[in-house]
Amino acid sequence: MSIEELARKTIRELTPYQSARRLGGSGDIWLNANESPFANEYSVTCSRLNRYSECQPAELIQAYADYAGVDSKQVLTSRGADEGIELLIRTFCEPNQDSILYCPPTYGMYAISAETFDINTKIVPLTPEWQLDLPSIENNLNGVKLVFICSPNNPTGNVMKRRDIEKLLDMTTDKAIVVVDEAYIDFCLETSTVDLLAKYPHLVILRTLSKAFALAGLRCGFTLANTDVINLLLKVIAPYPVPVPVADIAVQALSVAGRAKTKYQVLDISANRAYLQAGLGMLPGVTVYDGYGNYLLVKFSQADALFTALWDHGIILRRSPIENCIRISVGNRDECEKTLAFIRAHVISQGNASANNDELNASN
Ligand code: PMP
Repeated sequence: MSIEELARKTIRELTPYQSARRLGGSGDIWLNANESPFANEYSVTCSRLNRYSECQPAELIQAYADYAGVDSKQVLTSRGADEGIELLIRTFCEPNQDSILYCPPTYGMYAISAETFDINTKIVPLTPEWQLDLPSIENNLNGVKLVFICSPNNPTGNVMKRRDIEKLLDMTTDKAIVVVDEAYIDFCLETSTVDLLAKYPHLVILRTLSKAFALAGLRCGFTLANTDVINLLLKVIAPYPVPVPVADIAVQALSVAGRAKTKYQVLDISANRAYLQAGLGMLPGVTVYDGYGNYLLVKFSQADALFTALWDHGIILRRSPIENCIRISVGNRDECEKTLAFIRAHVISQGNASANNDELNASN
């Protein structure tokens, strides 16, 4: 048997997640992975590296609980929110039997994590306004253990209506867990559903330090949920999931000074987002959708040609599955200015070219 044949059928047939990193590219401006443009300094002590870390470092758990406004017993830390997704699926779904439900266009890892564990996926697309299609979700709950929703949603950037999330929680009581992925919530904390944990025992919230806290390379995420859920996840998680230096750095990021820095950087990124939105919105044939995270989804009349022109020019953005849309992570002001200038020149030259063609056609 070849090595390939030894692998599970599911894995042989799986198309892995096409992360921004895997897609590669070469350039000076990287606005494709919703990372922060800020690289902050931290100190790391190496004196304890001969010892295993705590499974759930108490200081880190307490620091995130304080930040999120929950009890420390309601917090689990893991290798990014991505590991949180995986743990939930492994904990709640029976392979080849149960399903997860998700609402595209949305983050791709819900489906991929489910597939790797032979969990079925039920797909209920968002409405044309990119909101939850509650009647359709209700009709598809049979066999569903986890409903994933993402707010602010990646890649569309909008937030889900709070009333709809509450209705979804009401409709899933005693049936399924509702997972609200709040990876980008720090850019619009007022829309968080964290207060609903007190009312709904089947609500789970995913958080991360990868975005607003500018620590994508640290791989540190959190699951917020009631203790019954957290205790189940603790049965499944690996024995020493948080490296000692990760816990050290995360605690510094969540200190009073670290949180103040993040708040300032969130304001800075939000100002750049407004700058990009205003600049792009003025261009002919361009639609910028309101975005609440650190990225914008933008529709162009010829997105593929523009994407390639940007790529060739060393400006690496993210193609989106939504027709003619490109997702642009909000960088620092210089990156935003250069990106806007290139797009403006490209869109205007294309507009002129097609106007010239029209004139030629009219005179022929
Ligand atoms: N959820 C969403 C919506 C995301 O966009 C991302 C990051 N791309 C994640 C979760 C995973 O975040 P982390 O870096 O914490 O694994």
